[in-house]
Amino acid sequence: MAFIGSKMTGNQYNKSKIDKVIIGVGAFENHGYHMPFGTDALTANIISEKLAERVEGLMVLPPINYGLSQHYNKLPFTVSLSPETTTNMIKEVLSEIVRNGIKKIIIMNGHDGNIAPIELAARSVKVQHPEVTIASLNDWWVAAGKLVPDDMFEVWNGLGHAGEGETSIGLALFEDLIEMEHAKGVVPNLPEFVDIKWRFDELTDTGASGDPSVATKEKGLKLEEAVLNVLENFIREMDKTNWNYGFKK
Ligand SMILES: [Zn+2]
Repeated sequence: MAFIGSKMTGNQYNKSKIDKVIIGVGAFENHGYHMPFGTDALTANIISEKLAERVEGLMVLPPINYGLSQHYNKLPFTVSLSPETTTNMIKEVLSEIVRNGIKKIIIMNGHDGNIAPIELAARSVKVQHPEVTIASLNDWWVAAGKLVPDDMFEVWNGLGHAGEGETSIGLALFEDLIEMEHAKGVVPNLPEFVDIKWRFDELTDTGASGDPSVATKEKGLKLEEAVLNVLENFIREMDKTNWNYGFKK
């Protein structure tokens, strides 16, 4: 049985053997003409809930539904927090998890803009609480992209905001919220190794980058399985050493 924190009572928690939590970190932002504004939080949270069905003792905390989206704010509807607020929000939630006695924390991130705030927040909480393990899947789209068959993606390695990969996993996880007939994106011209700090409206005029029109549910199911396997294998391996890592085994 999966432990979904927002639906649990104190009694159920006390009787459970919960020793670890996962929290999705999302955003509320335009995802092209075809995906819902809540895509990143939905993806992170649904994956977290499915993961909790596969492993013991894992509680899913309610996702953070807003993130750092200032680079996506040209198109409606985008509500971004500042970099400082995003970082502090994640930091405070992590600290509160620790205060409740949990020492094993997984962050399931759904949004590129949150990667830097997660890094700052998690580093800071780890310094304050050295006994705690904080793990983060920063970019599921990169991890999953490496694990699906090489020839699965048709355009730009499946990359893009609301692109082939993200739209595909959306079709697997929340198909009824996607309007494929409006899926339209642009493959932007960007350098391979050097990171340009773009604003999204410099990359596309549709709210989507990459090519969402070639997304399918079949591709999405493979991505979903890859992400779940990454997280499940991580937990199983960490559980073998009671979450000791490095030279402690
Ligand atoms: Zn997204």
